[in-house]
Order: sequence, then structure tokens, then C-alpha cells
Amino acid sequence: MSEEKSLNFIEEIIEADLTNGKYKTILTRFPPEPNGYLHIGHAKSICLNFGLGIKYKGKTNLRFDDTNPVKEETEYVDSIKEDVQWLGFNWEKELYASDYFDQLYLLAVDLIKKGLAYVDDSSPEEIAALKGTPTVPGMASANRSRSIEENLQLFSEMKAGKYKDGEKVLRGKIDMESPNMHMRDPLLYRIKHAHHHRTGDAWCIYPMYDFAHGQSDSIENITHSICTLEFIPHRELYDWLIEKLGTFSSQQYEFARLNMTYTVMSKRKLLQLVTEGHVLGWDDPRMPTISGMRRRGFTAESIRNFCDKIGIARRENMIDFSLLEFCLREDLNKSALRVMGVLDPLILIITNYPDGQTEELISENGPDEDYGTRIVSFSKTLWVEREDFMEEAAKKWFRLAPGATVRLKSAYIVKCDGFTKDCNGVVNEIHCSYLPETKSGNDTSGISVKGTIHWVSVAHAVPAEVRLYERLFKVENPGTEEGDFKKYINENSLKIIPNAWVENSLLSATTTTRYQFLRKGYFCLDKESAPNKLVFNRTVTLKDAYSKEVKKL
Ligand code: ATP
Ligand code: MG
Repeated sequence: MSEEKSLNFIEEIIEADLTNGKYKTILTRFPPEPNGYLHIGHAKSICLNFGLGIKYKGKTNLRFDDTNPVKEETEYVDSIKEDVQWLGFNWEKELYASDYFDQLYLLAVDLIKKGLAYVDDSSPEEIAALKGTPTVPGMASANRSRSIEENLQLFSEMKAGKYKDGEKVLRGKIDMESPNMHMRDPLLYRIKHAHHHRTGDAWCIYPMYDFAHGQSDSIENITHSICTLEFIPHRELYDWLIEKLGTFSSQQYEFARLNMTYTVMSKRKLLQLVTEGHVLGWDDPRMPTISGMRRRGFTAESIRNFCDKIGIARRENMIDFSLLEFCLREDLNKSALRVMGVLDPLILIITNYPDGQTEELISENGPDEDYGTRIVSFSKTLWVEREDFMEEAAKKWFRLAPGATVRLKSAYIVKCDGFTKDCNGVVNEIHCSYLPETKSGNDTSGISVKGTIHWVSVAHAVPAEVRLYERLFKVENPGTEEGDFKKYINENSLKIIPNAWVENSLLSATTTTRYQFLRKGYFCLDKESAPNKLVFNRTVTLKDAYSKEVKKL
């Protein structure tokens, strides 16, 4: 974080709390529910919570909010840990709300003893009917006046498994007329006879979000409990529980969640994309999940920069997907190794180049000399990009066409003398002659050309499958458009090129290295790649129409 940047509102609060001695040090937490893979929205929360811990020399816990046994799985826990680490953060402690089930139970008993909670036998429908509306006050359930002794007895029977799912709940005894619906005797515990991913069958009652989340914060002595805006109406209950139970006074603060164009971000919707086969898994490179973005070739640095750029606000807004791509290009331009690969191959023969000769040419690996150089093999027959050739040159065409000259990157200037077509009338060979005195790095000719194109030597090229991606949705805001969001899926979001040719240095490509295929974009090796079948994902194209706008930010 740069020094001159002004503080966001949470930083202002923290600095005040540290200055006036409210806290000596801060402790934040990132509290995912392990019911899906993390997405770019979570990355914003991770960067915020862990970022504050680092900035103020405090600490940050990773706490799994695992109070709903039905939807939660260990697979999700593992993926969340991997994603947080990959983003570059280390938690102080790995914790689980389920570790506190005993403590939370005792806190609930304490509330009952204080006359502030009761067991209600009403059905969900009855509870809803008596709850009123924001403008109509609620009414008390007949069970609200149960004695403390009876409540203690019933609650322990709930725990012991005497009742079926939904037969009873524990409710806070607060205010059925509160203008805040969350204060109208909220549910604190429900019965659920379900296997939990960590506690197994030990429990058949589970605490509700508001009770478990807030009290987990207190148990851990979290100083600043940061969540998204939709939790504003929950804050009153959060504070009420702390006050009545006398537990550590964590403070809840709310910031605007990340919304981004051309994608959906709720785990429920992402899960549908996966289970209904619209994508190939949670880590499909088109998904806005952290694992999908990692597989696509995003760097952790680019995601952190993006989160920093969008900042922390108290009002909802919509971030343009292009801003994320801008941050990605900015980082890849610095970090990606330059290589050559031809996606739509066409043969180019240098008719005056000796048969069977190979030259080892030197080519730069990066934008400046610090990146070093590598050897690229050159010979008489090359693959070039079909789109770099025109049968008849258009105006301002600086690439291959009969009579035109062009530089082959890191090699020679060639002049196009002609071409041949196959029986279907499709161009299948371009014939050129090269100028030996124009060798790159040692050009004595004085000739200059306007176009430089990439190529790979046919005898040295390695075949590769290349996967090109477009946005997963056709509309800016699929989540709020009318009807099912899946109607707006872009059916052209994945294009597979089975027969590209790449330079042989890519035989030693790794999934953690990023590459720029000259003129074609940024690429990375896919996890499905094998030594005998290379597979590359295009992370993003080189074009950068957004940068001018973004620089103004
Ligand atoms: P979803 O609606 O996608 O299922 P969630 O809020 O239910 O998300 P949690 O696992 O409960 O997911 O989220 C963990 C943390 O990440 C919470 O503090 C939540 O507020 C935050 N978070 C979730 N989505 C976003 C987002 N789009 N932008 C910023 N923070 C988010
Ligand atoms: Mg949630």
C-alpha cells in the first residue's frame, strides 16, 4: 500500500482505536462458510482483512463458519486454504466455528438462565406469521412465557436428540415489536439431524449464523469484525448478544461487496454452473473463482493490485471486468517470458535458404535485457500465422503479401515472392526469399521494414492445444437480468485450437511460469498438459483498450 494513498474508513477507525488505546493491537478474521470455492469477491475480503493485519502489525485468523452441516464439505475447506495461501497471506490460526460448539451451547444456556432465550415449538410457518412486517409489529408466541427451568430442560432435550428436525427452536427473547426484524426474537439454535464434516454425529442442534458468528468473534477476541453491507441490520443483534452475555466486545463494520460485470458471484449460482455442466468444474478457467483464475493464468499479484485499486467503500457499486484485466496485463507485461507460438499455422518456405540447415538464433525473453535471452531454432520451412498473409495487400498492410517485405522476429527480413493453393483454393504455402545481411542483431543492410511477425520452425516446433476464452456471460449483469441467469451464458466462451505449434523451449514450461506468445496474448500451461500433449490457456489478450480510462482513476 502506497504511503500517499488516503486511508479508507476502516483504516481510519483502526488508527483511532489504536491511538486512543481502545486496543493495543488488532485481530481480524476471514470467515468463509466452506460451502463452495472462493471467488474474486472473497479475494476482496481476504485482501482487506489480511491486509489490515499486516499494515497494523496485528493478526488475522482464518475461521471456517461451518455451522450448516448439510452444505459443507472438507473439499471446500482444503480449496479455501489453498486459495488464501496462493493469494499470499498467512493466517495466525486456522479455526472452525464448530470447535466452539460446546462453548456456544453453554452461552446459549447462559442466555436462557438470564431469561433472554426460550424454546419455541412453533412451526416455521407459525413463526413467520407472528413475526409481522417492518411496519406491522410482531406478536409473541405462546411459548415465550415458558419458565427458565422448562426452557433449560427442553433445550437439553433438544441437544440430546429427543426431537425431530424443525420440532423446536431456541429463540432470543428480545422485542417482537422492534423496527428491526432481526430483533424480533431471532432463532439462535435449530435441530438438524445431519452429519457434520468435523463433528460427525456429536450434535443434532446447530447454532444459527448470528449467534455463532458474533460469539465466535468474541471467543477469539476479534477486534474488528468486517463484513459486507447486507449485515448492517444484523449488527444490533450482534451487539445485543455481546452485551447480554458479557463476552469480548468485538465490533462489526460493513463495507460494500465487490460486484463485477459479466459474471455472477454467489456461490449458489457458481455451484449451479458446476453441477449442471455449464463449466468443467470450480476451477474452470472461465469461472470467477480464485482457483479458476489461477488456472487461467492470473497472478496473485494482479488480484491483490486489483483489490487495492477498487478500494473499500460504504456504497455498493459495479466494477468493470476490464479493470481486472488491466491489472492482469500490467503484471504479466512485467513477469511473462516472451515466446513464439503460431495458433493458425500456414507454411512459409524460404526458397533461397539452404536445405537442412538450422541456425540457433538469439531472442529476448522479456521487455528488457534483465530477462536474458534464449535460443530459437530457425530453418528453411516455418509456420507463420495465417492472418499475417494476404493474397493481395490492402492499404497499410505491413505483413506478408506478394511483393511485400517483413521481418521474421529475431531472424531475417524476407520478401514474399508468391504462394500456392490446395485443391480447395485455400492458400497452403507462402514462398519467400531472405536477405542474409539482415540477420537480427547483426543487420548491415540498412533496410527497414514496417512489419515484424512471429514464426516457429517446422522441424523444431512442438504441437500444442491452445484454449481461448471469452467472457462467460453475454450481458453485463447476468445476476439481475430477467429470468434464469444461465440464459445469458456465452456459448462461445471456450474455443479450443487443437493444432497450434509452439517453440520447443516450451517443452520445459511449468504451470507457475507465465508466457507472452508474441502478438497473441498471455498464456500459461494448463494442469491437463502432459509431456506428449502440451495444453495452454490464453490468460488474456494483449489488447488494452481500457488503460487510458483506468489511468484516470
Ligand atoms: P456468497 O454469497 O458468494 O455465497 P457469502 O457471503 O455467503 O458469499 P462467505 O463464505 O460467507 O460467502 O463469505 C466469507 C466472507 O467473504 C464474508 O465476510 C463475506 O462478507 C465476504 N464476501 C463474500 N462475497 C463477497 C464479495 N462479493 N465482496 C466482498 N466480500 C465478500
Ligand atoms: Mg455467507
